Amino acid sequence: MEKICVAVRVRPAVPQEIFNGTFWNVEDNRVSLHRQHGTPIAGISFAFDHVFDENCGNARVYELLTKDIIHAAVEGFNGTVFAYGQTSSGKTFTMNGSSSEPGIIPLAVRDIFDNIQKMSDREFLIRVSYMEIYNEEINDLLAVGNQKLPIHESLERGIFVAGLREEIVNSAEQVIKLIESGEGNRHFGETNMNVRSSRSHTIFRMVIESKGKDTNPSSDYSSSDAIRVSVLNLVDLAGSERIAKTGAGGVRLKEGKYINKSLMALGNVINKLSEGAKQRGHIPYRDSKLTRILQPALGGNAKTSIICTIAPEEVHIEETKGTLQFASRAKRITNCAQVNEILTDAALLKRQKLEIEELRSKLQGSHAEVLEQEILKLRNDMLKYELEREKLETELEEERRSRKERDECIREQKSIVVNPSNHVMLSDSDRSSSQELDSRTPKEECDDSNSVCQADVFRTPSYKAAPNAFVVKRSNYSRLPDYSPLPDSFSNVADEDTWFKMNKGYIADLDMLQMTPARKVQSFPLNDATPGSNENYRQEVQKLKEQLELVIEEKNEFQRKYTEQVLLNDQLNGEISELTQETLLIQEIPQRLCESVASCKDFYEDALSTMQSFASDGNSSTAKLLSSTSEIGSSLFSSLETLFSMAADGNKSFAGNYPLFQEHCKVLCERLKSTITTLALSETQTTDNKQVKNPQCRCDNKGCAPEEETTCWKEKLSNELNTIKEKYNGLEKEVDLNNKFLEASKEKYGSLEREFQLLKEERDSLIETVAESSQKLAVVTDQKENVLKDLNSELQRRKDIEEEIKQFSVAFASRQKSLVSFHSQLKSKVEKLRSQNPVPVPKSLGY
Ligand code: ADP
Ligand code: MG
Repeated sequence: MEKICVAVRVRPAVPQEIFNGTFWNVEDNRVSLHRQHGTPIAGISFAFDHVFDENCGNARVYELLTKDIIHAAVEGFNGTVFAYGQTSSGKTFTMNGSSSEPGIIPLAVRDIFDNIQKMSDREFLIRVSYMEIYNEEINDLLAVGNQKLPIHESLERGIFVAGLREEIVNSAEQVIKLIESGEGNRHFGETNMNVRSSRSHTIFRMVIESKGKDTNPSSDYSSSDAIRVSVLNLVDLAGSERIAKTGAGGVRLKEGKYINKSLMALGNVINKLSEGAKQRGHIPYRDSKLTRILQPALGGNAKTSIICTIAPEEVHIEETKGTLQFASRAKRITNCAQVNEILTDAALLKRQKLEIEELRSKLQGSHAEVLEQEILKLRNDMLKYELEREKLETELEEERRSRKERDECIREQKSIVVNPSNHVMLSDSDRSSSQELDSRTPKEECDDSNSVCQADVFRTPSYKAAPNAFVVKRSNYSRLPDYSPLPDSFSNVADEDTWFKMNKGYIADLDMLQMTPARKVQSFPLNDATPGSNENYRQEVQKLKEQLELVIEEKNEFQRKYTEQVLLNDQLNGEISELTQETLLIQEIPQRLCESVASCKDFYEDALSTMQSFASDGNSSTAKLLSSTSEIGSSLFSSLETLFSMAADGNKSFAGNYPLFQEHCKVLCERLKSTITTLALSETQTTDNKQVKNPQCRCDNKGCAPEEETTCWKEKLSNELNTIKEKYNGLEKEVDLNNKFLEASKEKYGSLEREFQLLKEERDSLIETVAESSQKLAVVTDQKENVLKDLNSELQRRKDIEEEIKQFSVAFASRQKSLVSFHSQLKSKVEKLRSQNPVPVPKSLGY
């Protein structure tokens, strides 16, 4: 397992852009956002395998990020390099480069051919294809007419683009010319951000096949028979873009939508893959053509590098952050790359031929005494071989069929584009054959069923359609007559003398032989081939079936529980969100109370100032009362304000201060009462000798006596005081209630949260158990399938043996018959001779 290698590249800033705020700082393998004066902004700092600043050239990027993948591809590992980033951030510059500064693709192509030159012990065959995904359609960039190609998947070939043209190449220059011609067919467009913006994703692909040079073709099976096939993808993605920024409309807008959609699908796949294997679940590769094609590179057998390009300008900060987050997630993906080595059919056949030869020589050189055993053993081996041969035949048939399909496809392509002189083998030893190929017309090439077709060979490495240099032996095989050794060996040993010796005069009871095959079979090397073992198999299969059913039931039960838990979870989540809403409302109450107190205070102050304006002399009892009331009122309001603002701020000491506040209120009430009493007393004392005159008085009781006026004021004031008191008490109660409610909600919220946590844990453990059960189920299913397979092959073998025994019996019966008649003839002859000539017959004749 190895992690995907991720690098970030910052392109040089556009000169006319003015920096006045923040900038991206590159230091070692870290890129972070800094303020103008240089301090880093917390939380916006990312580390990668490499970070290349604007001064870094393509050659260095290639050296550090791609070179290893390219070398590994030559050795048989699949490899993928792709550039990701917003429009105009430098993806195409990095992948393709310019004439003065070649990018990753031309550098890789040259490097591959240099490496091949150095590996003198292997011969190589390289094919290239170049495609683009434009508006979710796959177009062939090497064959203009090849458009809207479908993606197919088959068991043998994996995921492949059907009908994609593949050119066999033998030099870097040839490849670069092909790329240049392909670039001409690519979709570009002008946007606000890039005069020549790539509007499609392009995938440049090299299929590298190699095999060790066969120094001694007549030698036994050797490692040189194994072919390595690797696929190298170099991908230049179209840039993600904000429609608002690119100013796109019409065709550009449509393209942009497709681009963003497929990049989003890529992001989703990366997100899923970056999660741990356990949580991963379904990976949505099928959401876009891009992810489907990159599936083997992202989640499988490939060495992969991603280069994320970013634009340093301030105006692109949001897009850059997005790219860096994508890169961070991609960094967590692991792949498992391995050399793709395939044993050719030719190699397999070579090995089997050897085995047959061995068997033949054994058969010929064997002694009569051990002949029976040998025959049985040989027959057994031959049966196995027969089975293998059948399998090979089916494979060959399959291979022929797919080749035919490809031939047809090529014929179609040829009718559109005629492109001779591309078929050159690389190795010196194959130069001559390559020249032969060159001289052929394309028509001949396609008609030859053994030639390599240039059509699509986008497939998983587990399969390969071997090029003609590698399949010569296989094609010879296909012309061999089917070899069935059984009749030959039978006739070799079935002459009468041998047969007689073999049976040592014993005449078998054929009926018995047929009826008791178990004893006969026991002499076979495979001692599990008895009817008893057959029964065992059946029992075992039965047992496995039962186990399977149990596991399925268990799994279903888990699934049911899991669904219930999910429902419950949803319910709880709903309740929690309701409670959160309520809590928010409750939390708002102190704030609202604060506001009410403020408005009350304003109102109170207004009323008081109006009243004070009436009692303008400042010495009257009313004025005194008012000033005292004002003092008490402001003290009360300030206490209320403090209390509510503390509650609004969520201050914890709020609850602790509450009794103090109540105390304070009591004191104020007392003070108010005593003021009123004092005033009432002093008023009563002075009413007799004092004339109270207040021309401005607007009292309703105009013209009434001063005592009455004072009483009226007192009443009014005490009414007002009572109202204030009531209001205050009401508020107090409301606060109390709210507090209680808040506490209860908090408790409920806490308990729900705990419950939710517990359920979450339970759900996780259930998921784990379900996963384990699924694994067990898979293992059991595998076992079952294997057992079934074994059972079938065993049954087939037994049938064949029975058939054979029948043949033996027939042969044996006829032989016995002939022996008996011969014996009776001989006997009658001897009798006759004895009667004619009474000379004693030698004892050795046995008569
Ligand atoms: P993309 O493919 O991401 O849309 P391009 O590769 O077309 O962007 O780059 C946009 C422009 O920026 C091009 O003119 C290109 O030459 C220039 N550019 C990008 N990266 C670099 C770099 N590292 N050095 C110099 N020029 C660059
Ligand atoms: Mg581009």
